[in-house]
Amino acid sequence: MIPYQVCNRCVMDTSEPEISFDENGNCNHCTAYLSNEHNLALQSDTSKKEDLNKLVERIKSSSRNSKYDCIIGVSGGVDSTYVAYLVKELGLNPLAVHLDNGWNSELAVSNIQKTLDNLGIDLYTYVIDWHEFRDIQLSFLKASVRDAEIPTDHAIISVLYQVAAKENLKYILSGANSATEGIYPVTWTYGIADLKYIKGIHSIFGSKKLKTFPSTSLSMKDYYILLKQIKTVPILDYIDFNKEKAMQIIQNELGWRYYGGKHYESIYTRFFQGYIMPVKFKIDKRRAHLSTLICSGQITKAEALEELKKEIYPAELYESDREFVLKKLKLSETDFAEIMKLPIKSYKDYPNSKNYFEFRKKVVPYLRKISLMH
Ligand SMILES: [Zn+2]
Repeated sequence: MIPYQVCNRCVMDTSEPEISFDENGNCNHCTAYLSNEHNLALQSDTSKKEDLNKLVERIKSSSRNSKYDCIIGVSGGVDSTYVAYLVKELGLNPLAVHLDNGWNSELAVSNIQKTLDNLGIDLYTYVIDWHEFRDIQLSFLKASVRDAEIPTDHAIISVLYQVAAKENLKYILSGANSATEGIYPVTWTYGIADLKYIKGIHSIFGSKKLKTFPSTSLSMKDYYILLKQIKTVPILDYIDFNKEKAMQIIQNELGWRYYGGKHYESIYTRFFQGYIMPVKFKIDKRRAHLSTLICSGQITKAEALEELKKEIYPAELYESDREFVLKKLKLSETDFAEIMKLPIKSYKDYPNSKNYFEFRKKVVPYLRKISLMH
């Protein structure tokens, strides 16, 4: 057993199995975050403003003959709602894309509707085949991995690419941002881009054939990026993105309502993050988020520690979500108890493309240099 340790600077701790600490007791996550020269969240507001103006010009000129300027993903959460608000402020006409994976809370549906109605943004919703998706989600639970939420993220990214390619749009503006979620341990959320891993787990534990699950193989990704020239831009990195302020703006201007937790717009996500992760994997995902907020100067460490003392999952909500989730996944209490007891595994125990990704990371800058890739 590794002795318990929490970082001196942020609130990441030894619940992250691969965490390491330097001689001052600072962890590898906040150190990497703060020393990353490409971290836009740490750059000055003036240089960001210039970059943002240039980006808007590039987006506009890339879409002269199209009805829309760009694609935005909407989940109903703070970040993607704020992206919708921001792009309209910037004078862009986006097409909003939403993946309905069967777990939207009623509040999420109403938040998306209100936001897009108020802003006059068109919406395309992709409704996932529930039987296939249920089979994938059950496979990940049985695989006993911490990153059981990544099939949704993979499907979202895939649908965004598909729609961008179909509409011939070059820009996907994403709500991912370094100011509030730059610290993301790979041991908690591996594999969003790794179709080999998703299919690998499904082929071991699943029972249905995947026919329509939105997916992007590595060669498809190359097609989108290299041939179709589609770029995914974390647009919130181009502004001084402050969670509290953003929430206030979308509440006041769009009538958006808060869910009570990050990514709690999905019933499955809040059950997974609020119950399965802390109880089975001993992980409180708020630590990564709060650590990022400390590093981007939005809160102090003392405030983060106070926040961590707050209840992660209100008891009443937990009870009703648990019943709903088990029923929807067709899991009995006994099945679920067995899943909770399974020994913990990681992506390393299953087929994955990690080595290939590492290789690619080294090779791509070289290929770019000799102009084989753009
Ligand atoms: Zn740290």
